[in-house]
Amino acid sequence: MTTAATTNDPLLPSETREFLDAVHAFCEARLRPHYQEHDRTGTLRPEVLAAVAEMGLLGLRAPVEYGGQGADAVTTGLVCEAVGRADFNLGYLLNNSALVTDVLVRSCDERQRREFVPPIAGGEVIPALLLTEPEHGSDAAAIEVAAVADGSDWVITGEKTSITFGMQARSGLVFARTSPDGAKGITAFYADLTADGVTRAPFADLGGRAIGRASVHFDHVRIGGDRVIGAVDAGFTQVMQGFEFARALIGLICLGAASASIDEAMQQARDRVAFGRPIGCNQGVAFPLVEHATHIMAARLLCLRALELKDRGLPHAVESNMAKWWAPQLSVAAAHEALLLCGHAGYSEDLPLGQRLRDIIGLELGDGTAQITKTVVARHLLGRDYAP
Ligand SMILES: Cc1cc2nc3c(=O)[nH]c(=O)nc-3n(C[C@H](O)[C@H](O)[C@H](O)COP(=O)(O)OP(=O)(O)OC[C@H]3O[C@@H](n4cnc5c(N)ncnc54)[C@H](O)[C@@H]3O)c2cc1C
Repeated sequence: MTTAATTNDPLLPSETREFLDAVHAFCEARLRPHYQEHDRTGTLRPEVLAAVAEMGLLGLRAPVEYGGQGADAVTTGLVCEAVGRADFNLGYLLNNSALVTDVLVRSCDERQRREFVPPIAGGEVIPALLLTEPEHGSDAAAIEVAAVADGSDWVITGEKTSITFGMQARSGLVFARTSPDGAKGITAFYADLTADGVTRAPFADLGGRAIGRASVHFDHVRIGGDRVIGAVDAGFTQVMQGFEFARALIGLICLGAASASIDEAMQQARDRVAFGRPIGCNQGVAFPLVEHATHIMAARLLCLRALELKDRGLPHAVESNMAKWWAPQLSVAAAHEALLLCGHAGYSEDLPLGQRLRDIIGLELGDGTAQITKTVVARHLLGRDYAP
């Protein structure tokens, strides 16, 4: 038995289990072998991206009529977990595709959906989500990048920063200020990031080296009015609704990496002999593994609850924000413990544990920090007047 219950979860419908078995087999055979190589080269192999697209994993949230799978949120989360287990950084690709697709499907008109969604589902376009700015990360309602109306067009100027796939993305949801009114003055645009006036500058990062995190500069970039997504000044609600979904997916991506790490440490606990017996025979080795496996399973249920609520059209902000602060944190702890239990080999690049640790930390920050997601939960639980 592994900690990845998805490979054999008896509570899932048999159709979902068959699909997930195929996804896990694909991830193990096609993705996991390149995880460390992607870190070394700082890029994702084109043939791996093509295989992920061909498997249909970038169109999970796109309705069938737009070239996607029409999968529910729970299935999307379980696939994210499987991918996070094999190559954590490809999890960003699934998350971005699902998040951007969800916003587009919910807010676009029919013509826009037909134009924007199929290229994401087919893997021809890696989409970015551009919200953070050099002076405004957690305080996203304060963003300053401006979109100014010019006839039927808009002209965007300013810098977005810390953008996942900022170096690779050909299109992106850009959130820009269209009126001075805080959260009520932000509009979403689906921008062509290959347009004149867009330039990019990469970060040199601790982890997530293959995702091309970058700053993206807009120097008077002209965007047609047909690329406004939803109503003008309604963008903030769109991105926050998107985060409620993505925060549960991110939880599962992290838990996938955590369960892979704990499974590797369990194998070590069986194989490694010290003082004449497998190290797992020591409670000091076995019990931490059990504790991490327990945390992983509990956090996984929390993520799946958030996604099931989403599937039923019910509020899920509390559950997804709980998942977002807890799952990455416990996954970092699990990868750290697994590294230590693998001894000196765990510390080397022969094993992927050190890389997982570096990689998971990125998603403690990305898409909202622990303090910010706890603040959201506190507002729901305590009431706005009694919370940070
Ligand atoms: C790997 C990675 C990928 C990312 N991908 C994207 C992306 O694709 N698109 C995008 O738009 N952004 C992306 N980000 C940016 C990310 O969303 C921000 O880093 C995050 O929201 C925090 O913003 P900040 O870095 O500006 O930190 P700040 O907002 O400056 O916060 C600094 C610290 O202060 C704390 N803090 C701030 N305000 C409060 C408060 N009121 N109460 C308590 N603590 C507080 C924060 O929790 C944090 O620990 C990514 C970041 C990383 C690391």
